Amino acid sequence: MRCEICGTVIKGKAYKVIVDRSELIVCWRCANRVGSIIEVIDLSSPRRKLNKRTYSYKPVRSKKTNIVEEIVEDYSERIKEARNKIGITRDVLAAMVGEKVSTIRRIEEGMLQPTIGLARKLEKVLKIKLVERYEEEEYDYYSYSQSKYDITLGDVVEFKGGD
Ligand SMILES: [Zn+2]
Repeated sequence: MRCEICGTVIKGKAYKVIVDRSELIVCWRCANRVGSIIEVIDLSSPRRKLNKRTYSYKPVRSKKTNIVEEIVEDYSERIKEARNKIGITRDVLAAMVGEKVSTIRRIEEGMLQPTIGLARKLEKVLKIKLVERYEEEEYDYYSYSQSKYDITLGDVVEFKGGD
């Protein structure tokens, strides 16, 4: 038996994976690379025949989009500069955002990173940008095993319902 991706002779264990909606029997190295293993085939067991039954897998990569919010690196300079521009003291700014003066001082000195909530308030009052938003995409390759489970359940129901 040869790996259907790289052609290496497979000894011991072969891995059934899904690549572009088709099932392939591959070596462990390719299986690790592809990451969507649906079955491990033990070639060393003589009684084990390759399961030729085809399932109607829907290998849809579930894509998760995470919104990541981050405080800009130079938040202290931006706050200090904007406050001086408007011409208000730290005390006034602190009162406007409902924080202690010491907190504002530490933020302006770069000793304390404001929380997203406080940064939003400061953004509004000072009319500056402090929070950066970006999207982070994550692919869940393990959704395959979920669809396999669904099909197994379906088979059981079908079996019970037959005469
Ligand atoms: Zn291979």
